[in-house]
Amino acid sequence: MLLLAIESSCDETAAAVVRDGRHALSNVIASQVDVHARYGGVVPEIASRKHLEAISVVVEEALERASVTLAEIEGLVVTRGPGLVGALLVGLSFAKAVAMARNLPLVGVHHIEGHILAPQLEQAVPFPYLALAVSGGHTHLYRVDGVGRYRILGRTLDDAAGEAFDKVAKLLGLGYPGGAVIDRLAAEGNPKAIDFPRPMLHKHQLDFSFSGIKTAVLNHVRAQSELPAGQDLRDLAASFQAAVVEVLVKKTLRAAEEQNLERIVVAGGVACNSGLRQAMGAACAAKGKTVVFPSPLLCADNAAMLAVAGDSYLSAGERDGFALNALASWPLDRAGR
Ligand code: ATP
Ligand code: MG
Ligand code: FE
Repeated sequence: MLLLAIESSCDETAAAVVRDGRHALSNVIASQVDVHARYGGVVPEIASRKHLEAISVVVEEALERASVTLAEIEGLVVTRGPGLVGALLVGLSFAKAVAMARNLPLVGVHHIEGHILAPQLEQAVPFPYLALAVSGGHTHLYRVDGVGRYRILGRTLDDAAGEAFDKVAKLLGLGYPGGAVIDRLAAEGNPKAIDFPRPMLHKHQLDFSFSGIKTAVLNHVRAQSELPAGQDLRDLAASFQAAVVEVLVKKTLRAAEEQNLERIVVAGGVACNSGLRQAMGAACAAKGKTVVFPSPLLCADNAAMLAVAGDSYLSAGERDGFALNALASWPLDRAGR
């Protein structure tokens, strides 16, 4: 099927045209990050308004770049949740309007379902696999047995890894969002300079906790007379990143071994992190596991990723009605059909 996909769960307005849930003909992303940066985080009311301003242009651009007209589109897929309700409603209402006007089928999917199926747009990753969804709002381990068949194995009990990156960047005065900045600084720092805690590493379960690492960074900074700069800052960034990465890698490998899974997918914004890519790659190679990272564009929020599940559901005859509502929180285990 030729699908139009729309994503607006947070601060990216995104639209894509995808054929057969595998080939992205376009994947357009309008980020609001500059607008929110001055507030140090996403302001929900502003996000909704910016989505409203951007959505028509982004959808038109997605059709244009794919060289497709609306008349050729055979169905719509849209993020139903989780996310900011006001933001989600913009994409959802737009998708409903197009579906109604053109008499097309519509399906709402889970944002994290999009993230963990995203690599299917670049290569066929056979099921089952272990997925680490690591982003601004999630640090979750899932067993993925197929489209719509997800079982949660572990999750963060407090901050998401991306949230920890963002909070640490903020307290170091590095702006928002901070993941990519810390990643760049860490590349030139000594990861062994400061021994930050590795929370829950030795607990025999698959949950995570990142707020303790963040507090340890805060305490370290408070003990100094001024904010770290130069090599001290690079060493701090590298040491913080190493602590987060070590926990992510070890728990993910533990989950794959417990579940007897040969393949691991790492997805979501933090999957862009070069330290995580390198360490996960090395650990998987050592254990004979295959790890797949989507390319950076598909790790971040985008609409094409939604079409993998959307195509599968619509092709099976699943449809959502126009009463479909946005969900601020929505456990992925209950998102299958
Ligand atoms: P969710 O997907 O959980 O709903 P979200 O959509 O806001 O949350 P994403 O857009 O998937 O999150 O990811 C954004 C997060 O990824 C931010 O916290 C950002 O700092 C982080 N991030 C992006 N690039 C990197 C990087 N290179 N290293 C570490 N973190 C990164
Ligand atoms: Mg975002
Ligand atoms: Fe996301």
